[in-house]
Amino acid sequence: MSSILQEKRNNLFVISGPSGSGKNTVYEGVRARIPEIAQTISATTRAKRDGEIDGVDYYFMSVEEFRRRIDNGEFIEYVNYGHNYYGTLKSEIARLTELGRIIVLIIEVNGALRFKELFPEAQTIFIIPPSAEELRRRIVGRGQNTDAETETRLNIAVKEMANKDKYDHCVINDDLDQCIDEVYNIIKGDDQE
Ligand code: 5GP
Repeated sequence: MSSILQEKRNNLFVISGPSGSGKNTVYEGVRARIPEIAQTISATTRAKRDGEIDGVDYYFMSVEEFRRRIDNGEFIEYVNYGHNYYGTLKSEIARLTELGRIIVLIIEVNGALRFKELFPEAQTIFIIPPSAEELRRRIVGRGQNTDAETETRLNIAVKEMANKDKYDHCVINDDLDQCIDEVYNIIKGDDQE
């Protein structure tokens, strides 16, 4: 069976983009076309949103447990983002490697750059929202956050945008299908960058 796994350049990809960039939607579009792909499940201390499932969307845990895992050296990277901890467990990379998957981390900028230092072979992809106004509209319009959280996410978004040139690839999410195509080509290894 011809598999993308036999043709690809490497199997580690990191996707970042400000809250509201549409990075998760882009990933879902790519995943529909590459069955071997899998996203790492991060640990977080933030509250579960409606519809989220522990062990599927995140490993939800208390601050105490998260800190205990930090002390145990269980994280490849972790950050404090918007007053909550988020981190990638070493066990997640091991689990997906064992399954032979193309591994995608969808994480914020500081964690992504740290991960790239540790795994230089990883390809980093930054998803850019079409405009600052559109970004604000998406973050505010999402309605999942309190006003204070929305403001924090907008501030973080501006800082994240300032780091986009540190990524291997930047893709504008203006037209969703085109953005998915571009990310698909990067992961499949067909882009010429
Ligand atoms: P949300 O609360 O919207 O699910 O995620 C907030 C931000 O944290 C997003 O930018 C998301 O990509 C990022 N994030 C999720 N998991 C991790 C992780 O394990 N490490 C890092 N550094 N960021 C993460």
